[in-house]
Amino acid sequence: MRKSEVKEERKREAKEAVKKHSLLQIAPTIAEIFSIPLKTDAKSLEEVLNFVHKSGKRGNFRVVLLVIDSLDWQFFKDFAYSLRRMHALASSGLLFKCETVSEHTTPAIASILTGLRPESHGILTENDVGKSGVDSILEILDAHGFKTAAVLEEKGAKPLKGKISFVFPVRDREDILDYDEEVKEKTLLALKKASMIFAHFRAIDRFAHRSLDMREAARFTDENVGEIVNAVAADAAKGVETLFFLCGDHRTHGGMRRGGGGSGEREDSVPLIFRVFA
Ligand SMILES: [Zn+2]
Repeated sequence: MRKSEVKEERKREAKEAVKKHSLLQIAPTIAEIFSIPLKTDAKSLEEVLNFVHKSGKRGNFRVVLLVIDSLDWQFFKDFAYSLRRMHALASSGLLFKCETVSEHTTPAIASILTGLRPESHGILTENDVGKSGVDSILEILDAHGFKTAAVLEEKGAKPLKGKISFVFPVRDREDILDYDEEVKEKTLLALKKASMIFAHFRAIDRFAHRSLDMREAARFTDENVGEIVNAVAADAAKGVETLFFLCGDHRTHGGMRRGGGGSGEREDSVPLIFRVFA
């Protein structure tokens, strides 16, 4: 890299750092979209709300939130070619660099869905799910009369039964691509039923832990996201709007943990993409 390029890169990074957001801001943003209260100190994402309000009064709409396990900022950039549908979403919508709140999936997802830090929601391991007494945005929305749906691993799904309208449990298995395929299929089903749909894709995380070919995981995940995007785009043409969120949960695990070329520790940031399909 030439000196001037290094300077430009530093400037850009500095700008990104200033603009840094947090995963805690997703739940309050969704709460505001549905005009329901949420107990959190995290601020909603003004840029998203401006975008939503600018596009006029919402009629028939739904919110989709896809969490891609282990999709961190560095991975998103490094695998841009394999993740081209996600990059296309980002360039036609909004892209945020978000600070993470945990290195582990369960507390990170609980924070995404509550707007609270792990020490506040207390959901640190799978055993805490359903016992913390803190409701997620899914349960709160459902209590306000909005039908919500969750597509996730069966242990995480079980405590949600009876608390939200549609629970789609997915059985864990050795073949994680097959697992994610089922997550996608169930998400497509959930789209037909609910006003707020949450789904959790795991292939990238599992591949990272096992040092498998990350391009394959990236491509496969990107295709699944692409199918869901195609479905919501088709619905938009029929008058059903979708406010679409996609984010990572924590930095990429396993051998992907450290940046290459001696660039040191991977940062704790993940992408958050927002796009309106209307
Ligand atoms: Zn995770």
